Amino acid sequence: MPEVNERPLVQAIGLTKHFPVRGGLLSSLLRREEQVARAVDGVSFDIRRGSVFGLVGESGSGKSTTARLVLRLIEPTAGQVIFDGVDMGTLKPAAMRSLRSRMQIVFQDPMASLNPRMTIGAAIEHPARIHMPDLTPKQRRERVIEMLEAVQLSPGRQYYDKYPHQISGGQRQRVVIARALVTNPDLIVADEPVAMADVSVRALLLELMMKLKEQFDLTYLFITHDLATAKYVCDDIAIMYLGKIVEQGPLRSVFREPSHPYTRALLDAVPVPDPKHRRNRPMPAGEIPSALNPPSGCRFHPRCPIAATEVCPLVDPELRPVEGRPEHLAACHLRTGAYQHLDPER
Ligand code: SF4
Repeated sequence: MPEVNERPLVQAIGLTKHFPVRGGLLSSLLRREEQVARAVDGVSFDIRRGSVFGLVGESGSGKSTTARLVLRLIEPTAGQVIFDGVDMGTLKPAAMRSLRSRMQIVFQDPMASLNPRMTIGAAIEHPARIHMPDLTPKQRRERVIEMLEAVQLSPGRQYYDKYPHQISGGQRQRVVIARALVTNPDLIVADEPVAMADVSVRALLLELMMKLKEQFDLTYLFITHDLATAKYVCDDIAIMYLGKIVEQGPLRSVFREPSHPYTRALLDAVPVPDPKHRRNRPMPAGEIPSALNPPSGCRFHPRCPIAATEVCPLVDPELRPVEGRPEHLAACHLRTGAYQHLDPER
């Protein structure tokens, strides 16, 4: 295989995003220092070409901000994104615009993503007008119809002139996917793409996305709070907590041997249909702490059920390979056999 195909499509290196938070008039009168929300703090991962990379975490973990950093929809405070060997931070606006046609995003709320006054055909055609200026109006229309049929809205001609309110929620998400595909991208960032769909259509949408991946040779960055969904679609996953990746690796390895207590808690919270195998372990008590004032040391320590060492609140654990599994990383001082020894239920 030529070397170029072995290069990851996306490399995120030390991605960091801190948002300044203004404290209001009183704070400025008292000359208090400006506060900073550490939304994303030194996140690194590779997305293999043709794979599905899942970024998983609770609300407030920084996964959606990371997705926007990857697409350069927001500027990082620090770190790099290398897309197909190109450092996106070095690109001039025109080069960035052209690269952007190769990466598209699907948001969770299709109603908010579509202009209610624009027909479905016009909505899908819009990115083609910007990124495919050589197409004639007839060719653009044909391309839109082709995309509608690819997302199983068939015959495409019947949907072209409809408005978003005239179709169902599941069909609207198909339209959003068709719009993402129209410029022939390499990367689709799917930000909770089925979270707002009815349970009955979720599996169908995921199945469609996997079929489109093969058909159009796509790579996905898949953002979800739901490990059950991640299990269905992802090849590799990274678990985020309070702006950091706490565990990452091949999906099978992470599911089989979760090495961070937070991953373990997320897995235990996944509903199990068979009552005999129900684990009945709730998520750790408490909410994710504020990114304005993250806990010292390991950020998970106030909620960690096994924070059994005095080093946890003092030293931030680095992501390191789990014993015997070089591709599987965890950021926990007790990530190896010691952790399993402490948990008698394993
Ligand atoms: Fe828990 Fe300590 Fe591991 Fe953090 S480093 S997850 S507090 S055991």
